[in-house]
Amino acid sequence: SPDPTLRPDPLPEDGDRSLRPQALSEFIGQAEARANLRVFIQSARQRGEAMDHTLFHGPPGLGKTTLAQIMSRELGVGFRMTSGPVLAKAGDLAAILTNLERNDVLFIDEIHRLNPAVEEVLYPAMEDFELDLVIGEGPAARTVRIELQPFTLVGATTRLGLLTTPLRDRFGIPTRLQFYTEDELHEIVTRNATLMKAPAEDEGAREIARRARGTPRIAGRLLRRVVDFAVVEGDGRITRALADNALTRLGVDHLGLDGADRRYLRLIAEAYQGGPVGIETLSAALSESRDALEEVIEPFLLQQGLIQRTPRGRMLAQGGWHHLGMAAPNAQGQ
Ligand code: ADP
Repeated sequence: SPDPTLRPDPLPEDGDRSLRPQALSEFIGQAEARANLRVFIQSARQRGEAMDHTLFHGPPGLGKTTLAQIMSRELGVGFRMTSGPVLAKAGDLAAILTNLERNDVLFIDEIHRLNPAVEEVLYPAMEDFELDLVIGEGPAARTVRIELQPFTLVGATTRLGLLTTPLRDRFGIPTRLQFYTEDELHEIVTRNATLMKAPAEDEGAREIARRARGTPRIAGRLLRRVVDFAVVEGDGRITRALADNALTRLGVDHLGLDGADRRYLRLIAEAYQGGPVGIETLSAALSESRDALEEVIEPFLLQQGLIQRTPRGRMLAQGGWHHLGMAAPNAQGQ
């Protein structure tokens, strides 16, 4: 059998629990959000009260779920998790709310996708820890008010703009998560490699960090794939050359863009001379949902200055032309 010292542990699935930071002190990056949360958590603990409702917004994979779990752990309270699309009826949410214990954290992922009837139930629950239930039907129907235990709602959304104003207003702590810097991702990759017992050279970890689209979830995924190549085609060590080769074979370019990102850029450049072009047109031409474009693809391209959003649609920015190795048409005057 192979030398166990050369083999990393069985590779965990994406979003693996053992790699998730368990405490605020282990959470890398998001310094501002972390510093504020630390204060709010400590204050809630000292007062023995439920922490204020917290809304995390930002692109997928930046640590919204992880932070919600850390909050409950540091508050020393229970954690319940659900998501907007899963809560089909008002009764689904009522069942969860009435089962919460004092000061628990209830995490609702994709909270922008709550059905309006469910959202109605949430308002008095968030504001007064009360539930108004309608019992019976027709003329015999009556409303019963149920007292709830105080709790902290932690909502997560990739689309702040899709939240209704009344819901948004009920969060005392709105927190925007940012893309991570290369240094922060380097730290995360190094930590994860150690946890996976995969020997990573500093420059190998940095190469993965540089190409992870500012996103810890992607860094984790790329690390696992690079480990695969290291184990099968190398001696198990993650060197810069090995990481570069593996990532290039995975279609991840030096900026971290993958095939879908490049298809998006190339479409605007080649079919629309750099734009502007409407999001619906792009969605149809790429056979990608508008949501996927707006939530997953565009935020990083915008942050990198490769595209611009204008009232008339998306345009390729100077950086986008440069990345494609193309010259911007002269008339454009960007
Ligand atoms: P989101 O809920 O925003 O989509 P998650 O909280 O599920 O993101 O995080 C995605 C993955 O990235 C998880 O595997 C998590 O362990 C990892 N991760 C997120 N933030 C960090 C961080 N700051 N440090 C280390 N790992 C992180």
